[in-house]
Amino acid sequence: MKTATQLIHSIPIDELTGAISVPIYQSSTFVQESPGINKGFEFSRANNPTRKVLEDLICNLEEGYAGFGFASGMAAIDAVLKLLKTGDEIMAVEDTYGGIFQAFNHMFDRFGIKVNYVDTSNTDKVLANITPNTRIIWLESPTNPTLKISDIKSISKIAKQHNILLVVDNTLSTPLVQQPIVLGADIVIHSASKYLAGHTDVIAGLVVVNNKSLADQIRFNQNVSGGILSPFEAWLTVRGIETLCLRLEKQCSNAMTVATWLAAHPAVDKVFYPGLATHKNHHIARKQQKYYGAMVSFSLKNDNIKNAIRIVNATKLFKLAESFGGVKSMLNHPATMTHRVIPEDFRKKAGLQDSCIRLSVGIEDAEDLINDLKQALEKLNHPAGKQITILQ
Ligand SMILES: *Cc1c(COP(=O)(O)O)cnc(C)c1O
Repeated sequence: MKTATQLIHSIPIDELTGAISVPIYQSSTFVQESPGINKGFEFSRANNPTRKVLEDLICNLEEGYAGFGFASGMAAIDAVLKLLKTGDEIMAVEDTYGGIFQAFNHMFDRFGIKVNYVDTSNTDKVLANITPNTRIIWLESPTNPTLKISDIKSISKIAKQHNILLVVDNTLSTPLVQQPIVLGADIVIHSASKYLAGHTDVIAGLVVVNNKSLADQIRFNQNVSGGILSPFEAWLTVRGIETLCLRLEKQCSNAMTVATWLAAHPAVDKVFYPGLATHKNHHIARKQQKYYGAMVSFSLKNDNIKNAIRIVNATKLFKLAESFGGVKSMLNHPATMTHRVIPEDFRKKAGLQDSCIRLSVGIEDAEDLINDLKQALEKLNHPAGKQITILQ
């Protein structure tokens, strides 16, 4: 079966009632016949039938060994980082998600876990930076907002040779765009709050692992730390994933149209979109991705914060908000919003300019989206507008 069919039909019909929509099993505990003899469920922190449908679904889509549902992407990341012990080191992609930077630098560092940020889009640098204590290589591909791509397959070979776990945060891509486990990764992480749930109405996280030993460890961490996904959010996430194929195809094709248009605009300096032949890592994206994703970033020729804010304040269809991946188009100014927790020198080193604007392209008509950006970019020709306040 093709992916679109498989996705829809791997969501089971409820055996008990025939319910075609996954039932929400809102129960904390399950009655047992005799101690230890039960229908596979004991207590919902450990396992819940609604959550299990989602966990099996994501495991299927990523072609892994087991899937796990968490209360947020960050709770999923927390469960993976708790595979480590004092003295272990992480090699992480340089422009990592802000929340992950906080977890690495301001939480797990207190437990003696060190992180080394490396430009993983250059595979040679990955090899050069391995130390005897490197336990995890942590990738996001593409990264956000500069959409750098790392070669997952080549890096997975290096990781295997050195007995290092390869973790890939696949939030920006979803398994329909790329399958890191198939490319050689050991663990995949998702913030399902983004494309998977897809309607900006859920906070959820998922982990998929590729073998039994990792599954046992993550199951233990999930149950002991307890950051589990509720039955209702699990149901909403399954319902979101049902339309993932349709949404993503439209969003990716809209993103390509918008990126191409932006690249020709006189006020625009750089456009970051892996689908453009001018993108630095386009050749890797072409090799490992089925689509190029629906995130587009761009910077301005007149590179400053005020100009970027003037634009993000002026769009009408693109809503100014953190997060991404929903059906409605959104935009954001990373330097003062999602990435403000990352120190300025660090931001600059990762190539994040002051004027960088990040678009999450939705399912609207591409022509309307372009007209919206057009009228917003025209505001740059009238700099005497409203006074702009920059929050620090
Ligand atoms: C949003 C996000 C997270 C965190 O997920 P939450 O669901 O917000 O906790 C992790 N990684 C990436 C790449 C993200 O975009």
